[in-house]
Amino acid sequence: MFHIFLHFLVPAIVAFLFYREQLLKTWLILIATMVVDVDHLLAVPIYDPNRCSVGFHPLHSYYAIGVYVLLLFFPKTRLVGLGLVIHMALDYIDCFF
Ligand SMILES: [Zn+2]
Repeated sequence: MFHIFLHFLVPAIVAFLFYREQLLKTWLILIATMVVDVDHLLAVPIYDPNRCSVGFHPLHSYYAIGVYVLLLFFPKTRLVGLGLVIHMALDYIDCFF
């Protein structure tokens, strides 16, 4: 459960540090990127605590991550890209435990 908590906390910290004027809006966009976890529905079982999401699910593949990083370069998609990159980083940390 701690992992899910991080998915809310880290975007809140980032929004607070870099987007303080639009804190709530930024935070909502960042946590909205959690929808990439829908790709877990394609997997069997849907959730396996011992599985590393990164590199396993289609939207958590290294190709997908490359696209997310590209999104950072365009002002319009930057927040979405940021949320996705944070998401992947947090999922990746999970792979070490
Ligand atoms: Zn994920």
